[in-house]
Amino acid sequence: MERYRGTLGRLFTVLSDVGCDQPKVGAARVVAAVVYRRSIVSIATNSLRGDPWQARYGDETHTTHAEILAIKRATAHLRVRKLPGYDLLVCRLCAQVNGDIIGWGLAKPCAGCQRAVDDFELNRVYYTITSGVVGTSTGRVYHLSVD
Ligand SMILES: [Zn+2]
Repeated sequence: MERYRGTLGRLFTVLSDVGCDQPKVGAARVVAAVVYRRSIVSIATNSLRGDPWQARYGDETHTTHAEILAIKRATAHLRVRKLPGYDLLVCRLCAQVNGDIIGWGLAKPCAGCQRAVDDFELNRVYYTITSGVVGTSTGRVYHLSVD
């Protein structure tokens, strides 16, 4: 039984809504959330500010990926060192030249963020592939109904 049935779309809608309100950061507008039992524990967007956590998990020094910030916020909020049983959701929003959001793009975490996922023992990563389609690190693909 897949416990996200019926709610994965709702969670990604929340991530999309948050991302729509954010300015584009570098080449992408990405929103990530740490989720436990269908509830969002922390949420973050990619940032133009560097962060020591990003430096630990990648060679990026001038920006910080949304995944890293979401994990950092979750551990701070929960006051834990690991996140077993928690999932990470990642959404990339695609925009036209005029800034209108037109859909989702591939948000598979980079190697550095995947190392952070492994280090913090998160359960599973769900990431947008294209509009209405979400994949996981285990190869499953979900087609979501998006309003
Ligand atoms: Zn990354």
